[in-house]
Amino acid sequence: MYELNICYLYPDLLNLYGDRGNIIALQRRCHWRDIEVNVEHISIGDALKYEDYDIFFIGGGQDYEQTIIQDDLMNGKREIIIEAVEAGKVFLAICGGFQLLGKYYKTHSGKEIECLGALNIWTHAGDTRLIGNFVFETEFLKKNGENYRVVGFENHAGKTYLGEGVKPLGKVIKGFGNNGEDGFEGAVYKNTICTYSHGSLLPKNPALADHLIMLALLNKYPDFQGLAPLDDELENLAHDSLIKKFTG
Ligand code: GLN
Repeated sequence: MYELNICYLYPDLLNLYGDRGNIIALQRRCHWRDIEVNVEHISIGDALKYEDYDIFFIGGGQDYEQTIIQDDLMNGKREIIIEAVEAGKVFLAICGGFQLLGKYYKTHSGKEIECLGALNIWTHAGDTRLIGNFVFETEFLKKNGENYRVVGFENHAGKTYLGEGVKPLGKVIKGFGNNGEDGFEGAVYKNTICTYSHGSLLPKNPALADHLIMLALLNKYPDFQGLAPLDDELENLAHDSLIKKFTG
């Protein structure tokens, strides 16, 4: 029987707009396939050993929460998280978590806050908040031969820019995405996937949830042959009707 260990980083501080729903979606979609899942919460002061986990999740928060965990990240967890990303562990990082994986966050007053530097990306706080339901399209997931459309909800002041070696997760169809300027949304580096999409992301976009589960199983089990399909009729109806609503 396959087993996946999920590390939920700072669940008490980074959990905006139901980000925790992403963990529930991963658990349920694994259980429906008889894949065992263990979820561990790691927060301020907790020791972290990356080898113990297959999937890492970090949600969004306000600038305030991001500052609170700053010290904890920089005094012990930073190197471990960088090693985990480099080792190809699967990461899903949302909004504030996305920003934290980058090199720095420049606040509105011009103060530059150093971040983890696990990904070659950086964020500048803008004058206005980028808010609303949004839709973007990813090339690496296909549905009926077409690029998969992801629906989510964004609310951020930070504008994120991608440097060399980091690819966008998708192209914005509706909404703002990373910065409201270049038409890109999110970031992909190795098996780390970042997005501004709250809402929760994975229950609304089951194909993306399965993609993460598949990456983690491929990493862990060399004999892994692929995921058993699920009856996603309801999930797909919800997904498709939201896409239609927001892009129609
Ligand atoms: N502090 C960040 C911003 O406003 C992140 C917000 C969030 O996670 N929703 O840009």
